[in-house]
Amino acid sequence: MKTSVRIGKVMGIPIKLHISFLLVLVLFPIIFSRESLTGFADVESVPLRYALSLSLTLLLFLCVALHELGHSWVARRYGTTIRSITLIIFGGIAAMDDIPRDPDAELRISLAGPGVSLMIGVLCAIMYLILHNIAQASQTSVISDVSHLLWSLAVINIMLFAFNLIPAFPMDGGRVVRAWYAQHMPYLRATRKAAHIGKMIAIVMGVFAFAMVVFGFVESIWLLFIAFFIYIGASEEEKFTEASVTLEGIKVSDLMTREIAYVTDDTTILKLLQVMFGKKHLVYPVIDRFTREVVGMVAFTDIQSVPMDKHNVVLVRDVMATDIISISGGADAIDALKMMSIHKIGHLLVKNGGKVTGILSRTDLTRSIEVLGYGER
Ligand SMILES: [Zn+2]
Repeated sequence: MKTSVRIGKVMGIPIKLHISFLLVLVLFPIIFSRESLTGFADVESVPLRYALSLSLTLLLFLCVALHELGHSWVARRYGTTIRSITLIIFGGIAAMDDIPRDPDAELRISLAGPGVSLMIGVLCAIMYLILHNIAQASQTSVISDVSHLLWSLAVINIMLFAFNLIPAFPMDGGRVVRAWYAQHMPYLRATRKAAHIGKMIAIVMGVFAFAMVVFGFVESIWLLFIAFFIYIGASEEEKFTEASVTLEGIKVSDLMTREIAYVTDDTTILKLLQVMFGKKHLVYPVIDRFTREVVGMVAFTDIQSVPMDKHNVVLVRDVMATDIISISGGADAIDALKMMSIHKIGHLLVKNGGKVTGILSRTDLTRSIEVLGYGER
């Protein structure tokens, strides 16, 4: 399913809106119209109140996009390709390839986004002060509405600046901490230290939020949500870095299984189980019995749902996975792992020049990560 739509291109980078953004378009104007610190609860005219709230929502996301463009602009100067920027419910995500593993570069890239937010915040605050004085002198309501909008943007951007600098992944602050550690130790150990700090912050935040909720401050539930989000983010970053550092320089052909046993699509489950028992492999490419072309893959997990008494009637082609994804033997192992995560599959067919040369399973990858990463601990 396509979950985001492209709305334009800035600096050659496609900007996309995630489907969750639709919720933002409804939810945020409602929040801003009921609240008076950053919102417009005090505006008497109802249409104007909603128009201002909607404008603030759109401007807020423009600011988020500018924050991401700040990261992208600096990242590009270090030779990183930025595939896209997607605006989602929590903010923006810049999809970047090959972020340099250089502490100095990471530090600058991470600080660029919050830097942009701070700059917009300060600019809006200055414009607010100027307009606010004019509005008070002239008593014009239009100017005072615009100045209120500027005030809100100033507050929100300074909040974005502060929130993103919380020293925990997936926030920019987490990357800043890692870059700082990476100046004195290997990248993987620096990531583990930064992830550990992030998890601690998440736990403290979570306990605090939980206590607040128990004592009747139900609004603190969102803080609990953020704490959870930070904890997951820290763990994911740690896992991903571990994988990419330990698999560095390793090719698909180094890890794949070369002895492949094929089964034909008209093999019964009973027969397949006998083959599995004999060969001890967990996954088998399935070939068409006439054309000898690979038409699917079958793994032990695919047959577990077939009841015992059907084992001699159900055929391999009834249970096999037909969405076979292949990769070249010369590809990087980390790319194979990314491919498996994106397509949510456990095996890849390895092909060289159209010929099947092996199978790579997720277990092959995770086992290598464990073994290779052992020395780095
Ligand atoms: Zn950022």
